[in-house]
Amino acid sequence: MTDFYQGRAWIELDRAALRHNVERLQALLPTGSALMPAVKANAYGHGAVPISKELNALGVDAFCVATIFEGIKLRQNGVRGEILILGYTHPQYAPFLHQYHLTQTVLDCSYALELDACNQNINVHVKIDTGMHRLGERCEHLKELQQIFDCGQLHITGAYTHLYADDFTLPVDRASAFKQSRAFYQTIEQLREMGYVIPKVHLLASGGLLHCPDIGGNYARPGIALYGQLSTKEEWNKAEDELRPVLSLKARIALVRNLYQGEGAGYGHQFRAERDTKIAVVSIGYADGLPRSLSNGIGGALVHGHIAPIVGRICMDQTLLDVTDIPAVVSGDIAVFIGKSGNQEITACDVAEQAGTISNEILSRLGERLERRLA
Ligand SMILES: *Cc1c(COP(=O)(O)O)cnc(C)c1O
Repeated sequence: MTDFYQGRAWIELDRAALRHNVERLQALLPTGSALMPAVKANAYGHGAVPISKELNALGVDAFCVATIFEGIKLRQNGVRGEILILGYTHPQYAPFLHQYHLTQTVLDCSYALELDACNQNINVHVKIDTGMHRLGERCEHLKELQQIFDCGQLHITGAYTHLYADDFTLPVDRASAFKQSRAFYQTIEQLREMGYVIPKVHLLASGGLLHCPDIGGNYARPGIALYGQLSTKEEWNKAEDELRPVLSLKARIALVRNLYQGEGAGYGHQFRAERDTKIAVVSIGYADGLPRSLSNGIGGALVHGHIAPIVGRICMDQTLLDVTDIPAVVSGDIAVFIGKSGNQEITACDVAEQAGTISNEILSRLGERLERRLA
């Protein structure tokens, strides 16, 4: 880690925590099922390449990404195994799907026909809509599904659906999940009875795997849980499963300055010192993914195990902290925006709550400029 201490703002990835979460989630899998972690959006900001390579080393050999370029980046960095693209890919890119051995999701029947017409012999998983009403051919559209399976240039290696429930601790959400899974399996059964071969089926993301693993499937596609996070603080408080956060977000204190009572700081002087104040200027800003809505005391960072409120407006590259009450803060010290310091911790859920969103958004927007390292 020592070379890390030269950075301006960075992400530390806890290898042991990732391994723990993989083992924890694998233990929940029904027999015949494997992990196909969601490493889309740069592995929820963690860094898709280091995370996927580490997962490869832990024996994980299937991944899902959102876009073809995310998939190509993994291949170019030596990631092995199946890589499923969950979202839209222009049919013109079909040669790249073939070249990089990427599996494309069939979004619906007309998409299948377009992709088939590209004559590229590509691997696909067919998305079946069982109620989310986002991507997927409707489960009751057997004719259209048959048409998809009859596409000569599409090598169908799987089929999947996505559950719309977002709080599996609620009976209504569990009921909807089981209803969707029944519709999905029934459709799969009908297609198999017609003689179509569907090697792998899958339906579960983090919530489903944690709360309704019996729904089964040959893969589970956890994202947020794998990173040891849950979407909201409420879920975090309710969770019985012990998952460990993988990511810490840290930044350097560039300098410490004194303000006299009555002086302002930052754009618009939104902060005004009510007393003589010690300010730490930290090398991280909203361009790094720190939400600007944490400005003016809404958010904070940990310095030497103490919470230091953010003062004034968060800038593109810099943020001001009030460290008046924290002893011995000097330039070069580290401020922790997500993670632990002393016996204090700020979780991604805490930040999400302050910013009025979910931890998924906070994490996935963490910027390109942050260095990412496993330790
Ligand atoms: C993002 C995504 C996942 C992972 O979701 P989590 O809730 O983070 O586990 C799984 N499946 C699909 C289709 C997704 O889009």
